[in-house]
Amino acid sequence: MRTAQLWHWIYYRGTSSFEEMLNISKAFRLRLSERFTLARPQIVSEQLSRDGTRKWLIRFDPVDVRDRGAEVECVYIQDEDRGTLCVSSQVGCTLTCAFCHTGTQKFVRNLTAQEIIAQLIIARDRLGDFPERAPPEDGIVPTGGSRFVSNIVFMGMGEPLYNFENVRDAVAVFSDGDGLSLSKRRITVSTAGVVPRLHELGAETGAMLAISLHAVRDELRDKLVPLNRKYKIAELLQACRTYPGASNARRITFEYVMLKGINDSPADARELVRLLKGVPAKINLIPFNPWPGTAFECSDDATIEAFSSIVFNAGYASPVRTPRGRDILAACGQLKSETEKLRARALLAAEG
Ligand code: SAH
Repeated sequence: MRTAQLWHWIYYRGTSSFEEMLNISKAFRLRLSERFTLARPQIVSEQLSRDGTRKWLIRFDPVDVRDRGAEVECVYIQDEDRGTLCVSSQVGCTLTCAFCHTGTQKFVRNLTAQEIIAQLIIARDRLGDFPERAPPEDGIVPTGGSRFVSNIVFMGMGEPLYNFENVRDAVAVFSDGDGLSLSKRRITVSTAGVVPRLHELGAETGAMLAISLHAVRDELRDKLVPLNRKYKIAELLQACRTYPGASNARRITFEYVMLKGINDSPADARELVRLLKGVPAKINLIPFNPWPGTAFECSDDATIEAFSSIVFNAGYASPVRTPRGRDILAACGQLKSETEKLRARALLAAEG
């Protein structure tokens, strides 16, 4: 009963001090506050895009004496009928994908489960998404549903499957009926393809799966997503075919970044269709989001359209992801936590 009471205060009401928990005895509240804190990590900055997307730079307290402080970015994308929070799982990333800004940042450490969960709590604090709180008036929040944050995607900084235990525990709290109460169908874990962990992810979390594919030939994928040198495309797709819980009602999303002249030809699209045979899949085409210093360019609209049609005509949903929050470097692959990102933004603005 105690646990249910505490969870209700912490996750349902968003309470940030034990003092307010009036149905818990004063003596017990005191004991809790001597040992624990509900204080939020620090919000270093909040940016609001022209399209309503919000991005927070969050600084976490050191976890041990060697920790020099960890910062991550977290993005809120509002739509008419839903609000999606894009959370980070690591500070920096070890994968060094060629087209990803986060990959140019040094890896610092894994986030704890608590730090992953804190990103949702902070977002709900700032959006007034707890009972009896008011939403902010400087931007746009969804109007359709009752929840401002209805979906979670692990598509921020880091590779979630290299921080498996903490991601698994965070998903459990996000989806617990006494916790943050989000449906597991609305929680998506995105991975570059850490094959040995895929089965566990499906079996232990029940979360939806997204695979960052981006290329249909090993030779190219080795360069774009260096993790491919370890786990080849065929092996990755075989693991998808046996992913626990995947079905036509619960499809696996394949993310495919559109890079001009690199992976965007009609032949690539046809090969993609051939590869996905037997996988309950939908394909999410992501126009490349530029960042300062990158040599890649985004494919033309017509090329993306043509690619999408080939995939669609083969029977797969193939939506093109609308870039959101590009003006504040909040779009896919643009996240970075160092203060140098401010300089990067100035540069990008200058390049127009
Ligand atoms: N490491 C995980 C989680 C990151 S998800 C993964 O790889 O899936 C972020 C998504 O955005 C991935 O699909 C990533 O490949 C894609 N992405 C990275 N940089 C991008 C860019 N500059 N433009 C568009 N998409 C990008």
